Amino acid sequence: MIDGNGTEFVFELRVCQWAERAWPPDGDLEGPILVARQLGTNRRRWDTIVLECDPEGLRRRARFGLEALDSDLLDVIPHAPAEWTYYRETLPDPGYPWRYVREAIHEASDRGILETRKRGNRIEIRRKYAYPDWLRRIVAIENKPDLEASAARVLGAQLEYDVALGLADEVWVATERTGERVEPALLEDLPVEAGILAVDPVALEADVAWYPRSLAVDGPGTNIVERPTGGERRDASAARFEYVDPGEKARNRLEIAERAYERGFRSFLETMRPDCRHFELRSGGGGENGLVPYCQSKGECQTAAACSGSCPEFEPEPPAWRTKGWPLEGGPGKTCRRVLEARRRRHRPGLYFTGE
Ligand code: SF4
Repeated sequence: MIDGNGTEFVFELRVCQWAERAWPPDGDLEGPILVARQLGTNRRRWDTIVLECDPEGLRRRARFGLEALDSDLLDVIPHAPAEWTYYRETLPDPGYPWRYVREAIHEASDRGILETRKRGNRIEIRRKYAYPDWLRRIVAIENKPDLEASAARVLGAQLEYDVALGLADEVWVATERTGERVEPALLEDLPVEAGILAVDPVALEADVAWYPRSLAVDGPGTNIVERPTGGERRDASAARFEYVDPGEKARNRLEIAERAYERGFRSFLETMRPDCRHFELRSGGGGENGLVPYCQSKGECQTAAACSGSCPEFEPEPPAWRTKGWPLEGGPGKTCRRVLEARRRRHRPGLYFTGE
C-alpha cells in the first residue's frame, strides 16, 4: 500500500478500482456496473457505491447525456408524455410552485432531452426519449482499512441506520485484509445484515468474510432520527423514528444513481490540485486502472482535503509545462485529467448512444 496521511482516501480509491474490475466479490453478475464514491442523502453519505445496471436500460439512459438528471428534472423527464400535452395536465403535482417545474422544462429543452412548444400562453411538452428503468441494485460500501473498536462503534450506528432505512440493496464494510484466521472486523459489534469484505489494496483482491443480507428496498423504511446514547451517563431517553414511504425511497435511489452516473469515482481530481507542480498520479498496483494521487513535495499520498487551494506547499505548474516544454501536451495537470476522463468514459457502457 502506498503510505501517507491519505491512506484512508487511497484505500477508498483502491476499493473503487477493485469493485470496477471484480464486482461482485463472489459469483457472476449479468449486466454492467458503475462505481462512484462519496454519495448519498443529506443524512448519510456512503464511501463507495456500486450500481448494478440493466444493460439495455443503461444504453438508453445514455441518450440523456453525461450529466445527471437532478431532482427537478426527475420531476419532469420520466413523466413526459409521448404526445404534445399541456405540462400541468401531464406532470404530477410537484408539491412546490409550478414555476420551478417550468424552469426544469426549459433546462431540459436546452439540454435537448425534451421537446417543448407554446400554444397561446401554455407550454406543451413531448418526450424525446422514454426514460428507461436502468438501475437494478445499489450496493453501499463503507471503507475502514483499520477497523479498531471506536471506529467500529461509530460505523455500527451508521450501518444500523442503513439497515433500518433500506435505501441500498446491500451494505458492506471493506477493511484491509490482515491474513489472520478470523478477520478482526468479524469480532466487532456490527449489524449482522452488513457484509464484510477483506481487501488487499495492493493486489486489488477481496475475500468475503461475512455475507450481507438483502435489504427491503421496495418496502417502507424506518428513519432513525434520534437514539439514546447509553454509555456511562445511562441515557435511557426514547429513540425517535420516522416512517419513510417506498415512493420516497425509490425517488432517493434514483437521485443517487443519477449523480453516480455523472460522477463515477475518478472525479476526485475536481477537488484536488492536479495543476500543482508536485501533483502526480502513481500506480497503486493492480494494473493500468489503479492510479492514485501522490504529492512529490510531501513524499506520500495526500488527502483530498490537504490537496486544496489552502495547501501551503502548492506551486503552480510552470507555464512551459503547459506548452511545448513538457513531454505531454497541455502539461501534467491537464494530462492527469485527460487520463482519468478517458478511463471514466471507458467504464461507462452505453455512453456513446447517439440514435434511437
Ligand atoms: S503540494 Fe499541496 S497542492 Fe501540491 S500536490 Fe502536494 S498536497 Fe497537492
